[in-house]
Amino acid sequence: MEATETVLCTLLAVDLTDYCYRVCSRCQRVLPSDKNGVTSSSLCQFCKSKEPKLLYRILMSIATDTSVKTVICFDRVATVLFGCSADEFFHFTKLNPLTASMVNQVFDGEMLRVTLTRPHNRNAQHMRVASIVPLRSGFQPAIVTLREIFTKNASLGSCSITNHNL
Ligand SMILES: [Zn+2]
Repeated sequence: MEATETVLCTLLAVDLTDYCYRVCSRCQRVLPSDKNGVTSSSLCQFCKSKEPKLLYRILMSIATDTSVKTVICFDRVATVLFGCSADEFFHFTKLNPLTASMVNQVFDGEMLRVTLTRPHNRNAQHMRVASIVPLRSGFQPAIVTLREIFTKNASLGSCSITNHNL
């Protein structure tokens, strides 16, 4: 029996320094990768497929009414918050280099109901998020808000690379 708890919390921050990892899209095995998860060989050693895909693995800080915790979100749950696949998000960050710094502004203070699971693996440092429910009625996934911001910037003719006012 896994120990789970459901809590109401505020999202404080997501860590985008290392937020995804690569798997083989055919056999789902994790592919070895460098720190950025992208530049090493995309050939799967097991099934010889050359079609990797990215999955989310994100650390985030949440505040409950009693404590602040760092928890880990895997692909299915992270997709709820981001609104797109890790591949799409990765591509978006390449086109819009300010994405990483803006994600935390987009998410800042978002109210969530999360179910946390304590991993079986005792070496695992963080509780993992088994499910997530955004509570704010106007909630929209990060990619929707980010697209709106970048589209607006583009139409204003401002250079998004140097605009740090947002
Ligand atoms: Zn494979």
